Amino acid sequence: MDKQSKEKLVLTNSAIKTFKTCSMKYNWRYLRGIVSVEDSEPLKVGSAVHEYLESFYKKEPFYNFATPGLSPKGRGFVEGVVDSYPFQYGNDFDLFDIVEVEKNLSGSIKNPASGRSSRACSFGGKLDLLVRTKAKMEDIPIGSLVLLESKTTSRADDNFWEQLKMDYQTLLYANYIRQEKKEKVVGVMFNVIEKPAIRQKKTETDAEFEDRVRMAMADESRYHRKFVRLTSHKLNSALLDLWQSQQQITRVRLLGNYTKNPSACHNYFKQCEYYQLCNSERPEKVIMNSGLYKLKQANSELMDEVRVRFPVEQEIATAVSF
Ligand code: SF4
Repeated sequence: MDKQSKEKLVLTNSAIKTFKTCSMKYNWRYLRGIVSVEDSEPLKVGSAVHEYLESFYKKEPFYNFATPGLSPKGRGFVEGVVDSYPFQYGNDFDLFDIVEVEKNLSGSIKNPASGRSSRACSFGGKLDLLVRTKAKMEDIPIGSLVLLESKTTSRADDNFWEQLKMDYQTLLYANYIRQEKKEKVVGVMFNVIEKPAIRQKKTETDAEFEDRVRMAMADESRYHRKFVRLTSHKLNSALLDLWQSQQQITRVRLLGNYTKNPSACHNYFKQCEYYQLCNSERPEKVIMNSGLYKLKQANSELMDEVRVRFPVEQEIATAVSF
């Protein structure tokens, strides 16, 4: 290993999820720091909504109405959330006190059996909102710490909610909050905003469609909340899983043995952003010459508070080796 590789590698929930999907994808994204030049529409929409919610709970103005490159539907959705969320959840400030907003979490990854810390990896993440209840919410005792985790989705069906019951990210966050604050997080309130399933009509202009989507977001059926209680069993299982994941990642990294997973190349009816690289005999040339990729600091959302391996965004030409 070179000197840089001896530094601890920060593992986020996204990084682990990516590694489990395809270790080659993990290599491109988190070790090489290569990303598509253009963010996907769902990513842009999700980021804009998260930025809005951060400003809402911090009681600050929100200016990000003009996220570049959004479709009329994406713009209408974000505008509709900004218009309607305060009417749906304006009484949140009576239900709970805000403890933390968009807070970075970090810590060592420990072997649950021996208590020994990993020398190769540490944990990093960023929670949406941590609150302390001050009024009756479901059957949560008043005065409890609760994570409020926001998600946008196209379909809040039974499968969606079942998956959230096993949400690994919030289990990890609850563990690291407990370590930091010496207090248990009793559960997660999932704050889900559902996109309207409507399409642009042939007779409709972009502006008319954007407005129709914005109006659709005034419907209260687009806003959902469900509370999931966190048991000790679930919390401990997540820590064991985290330890095992860091072992697997460390082993693969030591061997440089990143493998392709062709069954993940077209997940969710979408081609993986690295398909052009994996499909090429000269991926470095594709990176340099195609204009499809740029370098981005892995885990850049955690910058400032967690030390990560790469310098902040660099010129691609200086970092790609042949
Ligand atoms: S294109 Fe397929 S093999 Fe390559 S990184 Fe993506 S999922 Fe993995």
